[in-house]
Amino acid sequence: MIRSFCLVLILMLVGCSSTPAPEPDPLPVGSTEPAPPPPRRVYIGDVSTKVFHREGCPECESIDLSNQRLFETPGEALDGDYSRCPVCEPLRGW
Ligand SMILES: [Zn+2]
Repeated sequence: MIRSFCLVLILMLVGCSSTPAPEPDPLPVGSTEPAPPPPRRVYIGDVSTKVFHREGCPECESIDLSNQRLFETPGEALDGDYSRCPVCEPLRGW
């Protein structure tokens, strides 16, 4: 009984190994992967308070979607008389 069980097991193993998984292509040594494009920065303005934020600022979560206005650059927001958020400081670093 055990012997036949072993035989079945061996047959299963052989059956599995007869279809080997394709080898993943080895990464060429010394090649540099192309840098991903920089993420597009978006600034979120609060229409009701006239304050704009960096995307991801925790303050943005409390802005109603209907009050959100998107800017592609801080200058755009400043031109629209929006002021910087003191929490995320959208102009810091640029
Ligand atoms: Zn903010």
